[in-house]
Amino acid sequence: MQTTFTAEQLADPHVEESEKILRKCVHCGFCTATCPTYVTLGNELDSPRGRIYLIKDMLENGRPADEQIVTHIDRCLSCLSCMTTCPSGVNYMHLVDHARAHIEQTYKRPFADRAIRSLLAAVLPYPARFRAALMLAKIGRPFAGLFEALPALKPLSAMLKLAPGSVPRRSKNSAPGLHKAAGTRKKRVALLTGCAQAVLDPGINDATISLLTRLGVEVVVPKGETCCGSLVHHMGREEAALVSARQNVDAWTAEIENGGLDAVIITASGCGTTIKDYGFMLRLDAAYAQKAARVSALAKDVTEFLATLDMPEPTVKPELTVAYHSACSMQHGQKITRQPKDLLAKAGFTVKEPREGHLCCGSAGTYNIMQPEISAKLRDRKVKNIEATGAALVATGNIGCITQIASAAKLPVVHTVELLDWAYGGKKPAGI
Ligand code: SF4
Ligand code: SF4
Repeated sequence: MQTTFTAEQLADPHVEESEKILRKCVHCGFCTATCPTYVTLGNELDSPRGRIYLIKDMLENGRPADEQIVTHIDRCLSCLSCMTTCPSGVNYMHLVDHARAHIEQTYKRPFADRAIRSLLAAVLPYPARFRAALMLAKIGRPFAGLFEALPALKPLSAMLKLAPGSVPRRSKNSAPGLHKAAGTRKKRVALLTGCAQAVLDPGINDATISLLTRLGVEVVVPKGETCCGSLVHHMGREEAALVSARQNVDAWTAEIENGGLDAVIITASGCGTTIKDYGFMLRLDAAYAQKAARVSALAKDVTEFLATLDMPEPTVKPELTVAYHSACSMQHGQKITRQPKDLLAKAGFTVKEPREGHLCCGSAGTYNIMQPEISAKLRDRKVKNIEATGAALVATGNIGCITQIASAAKLPVVHTVELLDWAYGGKKPAGI
């Protein structure tokens, strides 16, 4: 694609990067066929190619974002299916991240939209606040229908509907500490215990620590870890995302320098995609660029890491058929496709892959709150495909997908690592 940025515009490193990305796009439109919003809405402006044109036009003309571009960029799930399909290597992720930051800086959203976004940014990344909000949601749930009737408050209604009926008890494993390897220590890793996941399903971190330590891996939950920043990053709140990224880089760098790390383990693939991008996000920060790149290189999804270990024979033969749902951030964001399925099969599960596995379930961070109608269509399509496999349960590697699919599926939805921990001598996951 030809571009006409001026030398002055290109002096901005963010514009320079976006220009390189735009030039790679050859307008072929292959990406449209695999874009969930194009498949659902059928509008070119809700396809990757359409959005790329809109972003190019906005950035090239150096103008503030307007309602049209905000509408179509907000509808993008950041699922990155387009990046998997694109034959020209267009880095849509970095382009849309730049567009979102530009929107945040130049566009004033309606009051209700601003208020809900600020509420999400102030609550979700902080486990104590999120836990308190989930408790309050129980009281607010009867009003969900009322909020749904008011267009500006639909996200509030979606939020209440998604909140679980009960909040699990806190796990001590979410607190900073050291979990020693059983027997001879083979590896040492840091675990990101996360924000929303640690509240919604603490059993995921428990299973991860239980399995890794049994396999001879020492697990440290470092002091100072925080939310990975992806939530605010996807809202275009770049500075807030970088504050979180720097805090995590500091926490993990301290561990690298005091005891060493073989990996930084992440159990939510949405967070993994962002942490693997810290090197890029902090590339312009001289004090952090190198440290962030080192952290990104060490970041591993738990299944990616487990696939590098010599797994023993499973101790339990569950004889269950599992539908494996590959989260977008897992398959498109991190290109991890084979490892979770291979690990489940090796552990004795029969693995089925639902049709249209490349399409998003509609969770996508806070998308199911901010775009509830499109999200519900994608969720129902996903659940139908999953249930058609005839599997007894669903396994996936992202808490957002677990919450989204479980809100409509009749079968249990668990994290892949919970099944692996069970097969290798750990606890049977709750709900099976
Ligand atoms: S990230 Fe997903 S929703 Fe957004 S343009 Fe790409 S394929 Fe479409
Ligand atoms: S597939 Fe790639 S090159 Fe083709 S239109 Fe989409 S982004 Fe551009």
